[in-house]
Amino acid sequence: MSLDSNLKGIHPTLDFRIRGLLAEPSLRRYGTYPAVRSRAKQEALYARYKAGRGNLAANPHRTLRTGPAFPYGWTPKGSWHMVQGDGYGHAVDLRRPPGVTRAMADRAVKPYLAKWGLKQTVRSEWWHLQALTSQGWVDGPMPSDNERPTDMQIINDTEKKRMFASWTLGGTTVVREYSSYRGPDIGEALPGISIIIDEQIAKKQIVKA
Ligand SMILES: [Zn+2]
Repeated sequence: MSLDSNLKGIHPTLDFRIRGLLAEPSLRRYGTYPAVRSRAKQEALYARYKAGRGNLAANPHRTLRTGPAFPYGWTPKGSWHMVQGDGYGHAVDLRRPPGVTRAMADRAVKPYLAKWGLKQTVRSEWWHLQALTSQGWVDGPMPSDNERPTDMQIINDTEKKRMFASWTLGGTTVVREYSSYRGPDIGEALPGISIIIDEQIAKKQIVKA
């Protein structure tokens, strides 16, 4: 399968970072497996793992606890390979070239992970990479300088105790709600603004990230 088809359905930031990693000269022979799994596929993998016949696979029904830096209102569920609350998959498994052992692959990949904002989130799996974890986004490059939001602002509804990050992307206003309220002193205080934001999202005048 081609890289394009393997990466289909993953978050654009993860897509950008994985392609950057695989473009490193020493990693050109590496590839990936199909990244996004249906719930049925995850259930099959989990059943194999429970029967002692496959790699570690997450229970598709589990709910993950998130840290305060997790930027979304939705809760990650099952495996990060499954489509999550934002409509994207958030994990990619690398494939090593013929003749390369797991230990060699781990040594080859590790030096580039920080540069590309990727993290091995399963201790025993050199191949499993994420850009978003339950602790938030890993620091790293954004898809492109043109797409990088430059006008990011924090909107603080001090009345409803809800906070949003807001920016524009290609002429569209995007908002992302914080999963927890950080207090009245952060960002621009706009009491009651969340009602307007909810309305504009419902009318698709602005986009929820
Ligand atoms: Zn994986």
